[in-house]
Amino acid sequence: MASFTLHGIPVSRGIAIGRAHLLAPAALEVKHYLIDEQQVEAEVARLQDAIATVHRELQAIWSGLPKDSPAELGAFIDVHVLILSDPMISETPLNIIRSRHYNAEWALVTQIDELSAQFDEIGDTYLRERKADIQQVGERVLKILTGTATTLPHLAGDSASANLIVVAHDISPADMLQFRDRAFSGFVTDLGGQNSHTAIVARSLDIPAAVGMFNASALIAQDDWVIIDGDAGIVIVDPAATVLDQYRERQARQQRDRKKLGKLKKTPAITRDGTAVTLLANIEFPDDCAAALDAGANGVGLFRSEFLFMNRSGAVNRLPSEDEQFESYRKAVVAMKGRPVTIRTLDIGADKPFDVAEQTALNPALGLRAIRYCLAEPQMFLSQLRAILRASAFGPIKLLIPMLSHAFEIDQTLTMLAQAKAQLTAARKNFDPAIKVGAMIEIPAAALTLPLFIKRLDFLSIGTNDLIQYTLAIDRVDHEVAHLYCPLHPAILYLLSTTIALGAKAGVPVSVCGEMAGDTKLTRLLLGMGLREFSMHPAQLLAVKQEILGCDLGQIAPYTRKILRMVEPAAINEAVEHLRLM
Ligand code: PEP
Ligand code: MG
Repeated sequence: MASFTLHGIPVSRGIAIGRAHLLAPAALEVKHYLIDEQQVEAEVARLQDAIATVHRELQAIWSGLPKDSPAELGAFIDVHVLILSDPMISETPLNIIRSRHYNAEWALVTQIDELSAQFDEIGDTYLRERKADIQQVGERVLKILTGTATTLPHLAGDSASANLIVVAHDISPADMLQFRDRAFSGFVTDLGGQNSHTAIVARSLDIPAAVGMFNASALIAQDDWVIIDGDAGIVIVDPAATVLDQYRERQARQQRDRKKLGKLKKTPAITRDGTAVTLLANIEFPDDCAAALDAGANGVGLFRSEFLFMNRSGAVNRLPSEDEQFESYRKAVVAMKGRPVTIRTLDIGADKPFDVAEQTALNPALGLRAIRYCLAEPQMFLSQLRAILRASAFGPIKLLIPMLSHAFEIDQTLTMLAQAKAQLTAARKNFDPAIKVGAMIEIPAAALTLPLFIKRLDFLSIGTNDLIQYTLAIDRVDHEVAHLYCPLHPAILYLLSTTIALGAKAGVPVSVCGEMAGDTKLTRLLLGMGLREFSMHPAQLLAVKQEILGCDLGQIAPYTRKILRMVEPAAINEAVEHLRLM
């Protein structure tokens, strides 16, 4: 096949080279991981056991059928038994486990998808409809397998997996979480925007990814060779040998550069002319603290607590209990060994629903999201506040509230915090009574009415991802408007710089925790505006530090002020480029 190139949106840097692994929507619902050689036969046995259980189930259903039930019912079960006994279900997935080292669920879904695709091509309608039977049988086996999910064998590290590239129409942030075990080396999706939460999770995994590729999942075939250039947002399919060589060389160079950056871990982030900058980490789970510490972070600037609430539709309690949350928050603060941990209260909604199927709002990004949802569900919110407060007895925690725009929302939140404190005091539970409370500045109205916030709160954190979405009125998830997502729009620069300046004037610390903070192309601009606290994925931290170490604020600040007076996009872009060379 001839090589071709697809253009999309770069979301996570670096180069990935590997074979395409197409994921159908159904496949996204199961766990994907690779198993060690020694565990292959145990995994094969697990799948065989599940198939045997379904056999017994079907037999039980058959013999339990009332005598007068229609003959088709028995025939229907017979078809399922036949399918289950056919080597295409009873053997091929076992071979997939043996040859590719996929876990049982993944191997089974891979085969079901393959069979479904073959059935789609059959002209005969009767036969084509048998596809549904195959899927139903597959689902039965999957149910048994996932019912035993807690006893799954442990994950194999980065072995043979290191060169599988996921290609899918779309991946939700919740589905993306499944890939945290690093079974894949890159992601390509048809949908998505630069700062969709799916893209953010890909970045936090530090794996090259490109989204908004329109019909990549239709154009790329299973096992095609694929190069993702995560910096340029391009995907090269079936590259020529010379192109492959060039990219391998670039990949090796990038790996060497990264290694060099590793030497900066213990170096304090101080500009050439002596200004210290705080570099914090964005995390989704307490376990991410290890990566934060490893990158030399001064603390956690954004713990996106909503990830603890996702992927739980099968759980007995849909929401994590107060104790379960407390354990997670405590784990994070203990792991950070005295460094501050900023926990953001639940920011559910928009592209991070509890459950995609339940999303009903016409414009969820403008709907009952984040603090709006929390204030509408006071018991749930109080339980999260109590869990965070209890964890504050184990180390420095700051509380960050997302999506505030009205004074009364701040007041209600503070009232509820006081209530949570009173409940804990009554229950004789320890907490930090002076816990600092801050607001995300991510709605333009908030950035334009800062005195309301400064008066009531201890610190501010600018969420540029949403601030850009709401200021420019573009959905951060929608690839069709992704070209309008522009951090350097003069309106954004105005809101950012005024927030930083007003915070400084009032003595209220301001950080940026949106994706702009981790973009090295913007580090100097933000420093020039006066920003002294950056929060980003641990993977971006050392590159940002390198930028800081090389810059002279005495030169940069006056030039930044000039940029802030510009309105022409071309002039702004050129000036920001120039700033990087100063
Ligand atoms: C933001 O909006 O910039 C932010 C940091 O929060 P999130 O990306 O989770 O909405
Ligand atoms: Mg946000």
